[in-house]
Amino acid sequence: MKEKILRVAVPSPLYRRFDYLAPEGGPEIARLRPGIRVRVPFGRSQQIGVVLEIRDDSPVPPESLRSVLEILDTQPLLPPDLLKLADWAQRYYHHPPGEVFSTLLPVLLRQGRAIRRKEELLWRVTAAGHTALTETKIQRAPRQRVLLEYLAVHSAGVPATQTRRELPDATRTVRALRDKGWVEAIASQSEIVERSVSPPLLNRYQNEAVKNIGQALDEFAVFLLDGVTGSGKTEVYLRTVETVLARGCQALLLVPEIGLTPQLLMRFTERLTKPLAVLHSNLTDWERLDAWTSAQNGSASVIIGTRSAIFAPLQKPGVIIIDEEHDLSFKQQDGFRYHARDLAVVRARQWNIPVVLGSATPALESLQNVRSGRYRYLSLPERVGDAVEPAIEVLDVRRQRMEEGLSAPLLARMRAHLAQDGQVLLFLNRRGFAPTLICHECGWLAQCRRCDARLTVHLRRQRLICHHCGAEQPVEVACPSCGSVDLRALGQGTERLERVLKREFPTVGIARIDRDSTRRKGSLQNLLNEIHEGKRRILIGTQMLAKGHHFPAVTLVGIVDADQGLFGADFRASERMAQLIVQVAGRAGRAQRPGTVVIQTHHPQHPLLRVLVTEGYSAFATAALNERREAWLPPFTWQALLRAEALQADVPHRFLRETMDLGSQFMHGVELFGPVPAPMERRAGRYRAQLLIQAAQRRHLHEFLGRWVGQLGTLKTARKVRWSLDVDPQDLL
Ligand code: ADP
Ligand code: ZN
Ligand code: ZN
Repeated sequence: MKEKILRVAVPSPLYRRFDYLAPEGGPEIARLRPGIRVRVPFGRSQQIGVVLEIRDDSPVPPESLRSVLEILDTQPLLPPDLLKLADWAQRYYHHPPGEVFSTLLPVLLRQGRAIRRKEELLWRVTAAGHTALTETKIQRAPRQRVLLEYLAVHSAGVPATQTRRELPDATRTVRALRDKGWVEAIASQSEIVERSVSPPLLNRYQNEAVKNIGQALDEFAVFLLDGVTGSGKTEVYLRTVETVLARGCQALLLVPEIGLTPQLLMRFTERLTKPLAVLHSNLTDWERLDAWTSAQNGSASVIIGTRSAIFAPLQKPGVIIIDEEHDLSFKQQDGFRYHARDLAVVRARQWNIPVVLGSATPALESLQNVRSGRYRYLSLPERVGDAVEPAIEVLDVRRQRMEEGLSAPLLARMRAHLAQDGQVLLFLNRRGFAPTLICHECGWLAQCRRCDARLTVHLRRQRLICHHCGAEQPVEVACPSCGSVDLRALGQGTERLERVLKREFPTVGIARIDRDSTRRKGSLQNLLNEIHEGKRRILIGTQMLAKGHHFPAVTLVGIVDADQGLFGADFRASERMAQLIVQVAGRAGRAQRPGTVVIQTHHPQHPLLRVLVTEGYSAFATAALNERREAWLPPFTWQALLRAEALQADVPHRFLRETMDLGSQFMHGVELFGPVPAPMERRAGRYRAQLLIQAAQRRHLHEFLGRWVGQLGTLKTARKVRWSLDVDPQDLL
């Protein structure tokens, strides 16, 4: 019999798949299918790869082929639909197939571990165990007593994984208890019947949305659910998920990194009667594998996760929902640079199910897809209940007296709102004390040694920190250039704002919410509690404040500095700024008291800002899309960005020029712009340059990339640079 050839995706930066000989004989051969993992020799080491095809031939002569060392699975670990998705993604993002396939797998499976097929067990205290607890004989074994008491309060049983998490050495202790007959293992209940909260009556817009999605459950359709904050989008998701579950299918919900809050999970667990699995980046490898497995075998009916959950294997998919679809965290920014929202649309099409993209500030791309008829538009134009939307006004700060970034009129407004028992939220998207340190004598600026960036002053920690490479040093006491001790912090950060406000409002509690103040576990929750209790009435924060949390008592929102966003280096800067302003504004005025939003700017006449303020986000989007069309920018053109970096300044440029020479042979319908230095040319000690590839038609872009990218590794300078390709780049930095 002729030997079988296995075509395998092996994790490697090479743009190819690898052929191997199937191991000889054995019953395993008959079971070989695409999606099964194999251990293969690779160079001088071994790798875990995924079988893509079983073939009779190979372009490689048989004597040069090596044999697979081991077949790791008896059944495909990756179902056909995931193989298909990976295949699509690898062609669309022009990324090495082996790396794409390994991204799909939880780390432990990537390392060759076996999947755990066993049902999750629950531990429960037996009658004898309850009796033992009341007697004294267990007193001599403190571990056993603690565990028994812990289990005893959960009469329905506690999952084994949870006991392991909560108590040290639980596995051994639980075994001892079982041997005594005090605890027993029961199989997990896959049907949870309790539902603690009943759903509200939908308003007419919600009804319309739920009905439209409900009618499309058997087909591929993309819905853009455009609804202001508090308009009841989550309620629409919940109803849709309920319908899908009632049909015996699963639902996949993606949320931004910052949006996966306990509140959101609570809302879903309270309302749904089926088990839920959570997939995000803070899980341990085992937790992730468990969640992955429960999605795959169908024991979890709802899978909620961040970006990478788009690769969850579903047994019976019914709907995909993307909350805050405009959020940047859905785009992977290094390695395999996929966009989870775009992949969601691809997956839904492969599965023939609907996908719902929800946002109060839809991405311009998505709005354009509505206009061109590809997406269906659903709108929730009003807030639920009697809460009204806040009024937005522009505060011209030119020639105003500024108190460390706060204008006198804004301070006066704050006083008025605080006097009427309101809360005030100030938004400033820069953590730390000040963006940099300057010498008042000679103008020296604290510069990162490894980046073209200034060091941020962190006063509380007494450090200068680079926000780009993480480098840290003590705050200088004297100017390294002229020796003067007159060093001053330049510009505003959240720490500095906090200090000013303490001085201006000494009796009011202040909460600063940014990555520095919430580093310790539980500290964010503490701050939020104190805000809700009214102990802290001035809130200062970065974009951490703009998402997921609601502050019903806030009546005034101040955007401290809108100018950053209006003139950012990236053509998407104004879109981002508009989204942030609207999202932050949405935190206020939820209750009966209407809110006010005040935007400080030196450019009150900026056309896009004017449209946003006077006519709202949708009018802004129209204006911004018109600008994009005229400027020949996405979503009216298609882009890819080739980035290169190296230790010597000229090498990335040389490499990029070589790639242009190579590409010139088959350029058709594409334009190349560059090479240019990256907006921050030096980062972490490496020089960076980039080349923009743009096409009016998507097809032309991909035809070009398909022929070009695979050959880049063969160029003369390729070994001297690190390069990467970003298809549909979300920022050009
Ligand atoms: P969004 O996701 O658009 O911000 P939510 O779904 O969170 O909006 O709704 C905002 C608040 O209004 C929540 O407290 C929610 O429970 C409540 N809510 C939503 N829909 C209704 C409704 N039809 N009737 C009453 N309350 C509702
Ligand atoms: Zn100096
Ligand atoms: Zn740096």
